[in-house]
Amino acid sequence: MLKGKTAVITGSGRGIGKAIAMKLASFGANIVINDIPSSDYADATCEEIKALGVECIVVKGDVRNSEDVAALIKTALDTFGKIDIFVNNAGITRDGLMLRMSEEDWDLVLDINLKGAFNCIKAVARPMMKQRGGSIINIASVVGVMGNAGQANYSASKAGLIGLTKTTAKEFASRGIRCNAVAPGFIASDMTDKLSDDVKKEYFSAIPLGEFGTTEDVANVVAFLASDMSGYVTGQVVNVDGGLLM
Ligand code: NAP
Repeated sequence: MLKGKTAVITGSGRGIGKAIAMKLASFGANIVINDIPSSDYADATCEEIKALGVECIVVKGDVRNSEDVAALIKTALDTFGKIDIFVNNAGITRDGLMLRMSEEDWDLVLDINLKGAFNCIKAVARPMMKQRGGSIINIASVVGVMGNAGQANYSASKAGLIGLTKTTAKEFASRGIRCNAVAPGFIASDMTDKLSDDVKKEYFSAIPLGEFGTTEDVANVVAFLASDMSGYVTGQVVNVDGGLLM
């Protein structure tokens, strides 16, 4: 389905980003793994991907830094000649009730989750325009639509990312570039492992399908949005949340 395509996934050394990279590789795409310079996981993930029979490189860099992002795009183009799929996955949480949230925690989350995606879209749009095609997928969150106590910074960053997705879809549609968001609910990962058992049980009771999703559940939807099977889909937010938000 993606044979010969090139996919760049930010923050893909581990977690949901790694699952996306593995899934796109399993459909034949060559992969560029991006992660922060201190990442302990990126190189091992790259070896796992190569074992699937596709090419893979690691380009470390911080999505907050536009020079790092320019180097990421340049290295991907120098290596593979084109970028067909770009996934803005890098994201963090720094939770806390609003009255106690520091300005630093607000800025850090907005910088990585929202400005990072802006930097990447701006940088990848030009080569995609030249190619007259591409699929950009932003990993948002249901809390960007629902809000969530204790996540003022995170929910605002993800709501912003949804606005950015729709604007990108409108600005670049005439150039054949599609842009969609995937909004996961609660996905079993390092991020949700930090929750206590009591909090997990409370969340399960609010999810119609009764459990957390898997990283592969998210990756499956990303693969659809990355492929020509979604050729008439742009500007959409697809929830992968077991029915939490409907
Ligand atoms: P994760 O396990 O913490 O992975 C995040 C990845 O992003 C890590 O590889 C991390 O590097 C990397 N990263 C952090 N800051 C970066 C930066 N400035 N530049 C480049 N890479 C950076 O998180 P996850 O659960 O897989 O989440 C992935 C995405 O899904 C995020 O956007 C998150 O908001 C979203 N999401 C997750 C859930 C969930 O339930 N897990 C739900 C909704 C949405 P290090 O390994 O070095 O830290």
